[in-house]
Amino acid sequence: MRTLSPEFTGYGWAPSTAEIARLAGIDPIEVVRFDANVAPAPLPSSRPGTIAGPLARINTYAHGGYPELLDAIARYVGVGPENVMLGAGADDLILLCARAFAGPGDTVAIAGDPTYPLFRIGAWLAGAEVGDHDQVLTFCCRPNNPTGALDPLPEARPLAVDEAYYEYCGETAVDLIEDGVIVIRTFSKAFGLAGARVGYAVADAETTRELNARQAPCQVSSLSAALALAALESPPDVSPVVEERERLASALRALDLEPLPSQANFLFVPVDDARALAEALLRQGLAVRPFQDGIRISILDSADDDLLVEALARTLDRPSPVAAAGGRRVRRLRATAETRIAVRLALDGASRVRVATGAGLYDHFLEQLAFHGGFDLILEGTGDLETGEHHTAEDAALAFGETLNAALGDRRGIARYGDAVVPMDDALARAAVDLGGRPAAELRLERDPGLAAHVLSSLAHAARIAIHVEATGRDEHHVAEAAFKAVGRALGAAVRVETAGIPSTKGSL
Ligand code: PMP
Repeated sequence: MRTLSPEFTGYGWAPSTAEIARLAGIDPIEVVRFDANVAPAPLPSSRPGTIAGPLARINTYAHGGYPELLDAIARYVGVGPENVMLGAGADDLILLCARAFAGPGDTVAIAGDPTYPLFRIGAWLAGAEVGDHDQVLTFCCRPNNPTGALDPLPEARPLAVDEAYYEYCGETAVDLIEDGVIVIRTFSKAFGLAGARVGYAVADAETTRELNARQAPCQVSSLSAALALAALESPPDVSPVVEERERLASALRALDLEPLPSQANFLFVPVDDARALAEALLRQGLAVRPFQDGIRISILDSADDDLLVEALARTLDRPSPVAAAGGRRVRRLRATAETRIAVRLALDGASRVRVATGAGLYDHFLEQLAFHGGFDLILEGTGDLETGEHHTAEDAALAFGETLNAALGDRRGIARYGDAVVPMDDALARAAVDLGGRPAAELRLERDPGLAAHVLSSLAHAARIAIHVEATGRDEHHVAEAAFKAVGRALGAAVRVETAGIPSTKGSL
């Protein structure tokens, strides 16, 4: 093999989720990764149905590439399709730019330090050196990874601007493509498609043609192209992440840390012994990215970010500025060809609930159930709602039930039985539950808006619990809602820890 610069080191991947789980002594699903700067969840468009078409033709090549995707990207960016080319992620395009412009004996300049390591890796792999004199190409990253800063655009040309985090700041160099600027972007971050490996470069038509000629043929899979195209039909709203970034920044400041101002979906927090801190967090199942003089934290959502704030408070021995997470906490991801449901449940919670699957009424009922049980529940997902609410509502109940079953563990010490009577205007519901481990659903709802009894029965079976309900009333919504509230209150009583033993005279459940 050709020898590379003596300075060369390859890209250093973070440990795998399985490795972190082993280190922390937990299930891999419980590992929370704050080290990849990716979106907290896939977009609703990332569903099996989206790839069904290309999967049916997976035996063949995407002859002629993906003109529809190029057109859609061009519209999104505001340029012509002749200005756009694809790559297997932004990384592929960084490496392509480096080898297209630089070779042995050349120098590549890189703006900012620290910055994204792939720029220098690309230069070295091309046989070039990294420096700041007589450069044949300059790389810069805006906003910059890992600092989050939006530093001034270098004057140097040709200039490759990595805008992997463009969506979080809205600043772009695209209007300079006729002036020697190449913009590199990705679907890995705001579009939630890191696993699909799709990126694109935007440049003047001549440069685009030349880069394309140096690219591997059909670098992007047809499945990934379909996911990117579907994602572009409804681009993501990044404002919740941006708001959460600022909330997390103030929680970190309350811990006496000083996160740098960020324009991206992560925060750089200067600390003295970054490696030791990252290692201590890793042992708690939380992965952050350590650097020489700080850690980089990707923004997820408030529930997960608060887990990190709590862990930082514990590790640094400072009082936690956030409410403690609920005990008997479990997460679960349930994915089928029809739905994808992610659940975070804490039995000893504070009724902090959010259910969002798009199955409107049933989301509302599950929220009521969890709220009145005193649980913390975040249940999010997406389903084939175009076929109706049935699959999504049922799978949400199954996912919740499976999570409840996991959170109950061996069911040692719990009250086991619970009951409740809940009136709601004209409706009255009586519920009794047995968490003994044998699933049963005896449900008499005088009226049902459609799937209420089915959802409760799915929950009973997946959670291995018996649910009895009698609910009467004139309004179907009230009858069902009273039933879910009553089941929630009954569950809240039944999950209470009362003794150290098995709640059965048989000595086993
Ligand atoms: N550029 C920057 C600045 C990044 O942080 C990343 C993510 N590690 C990438 C590019 C890589 O993106 P992709 O997944 O599209 O290869």
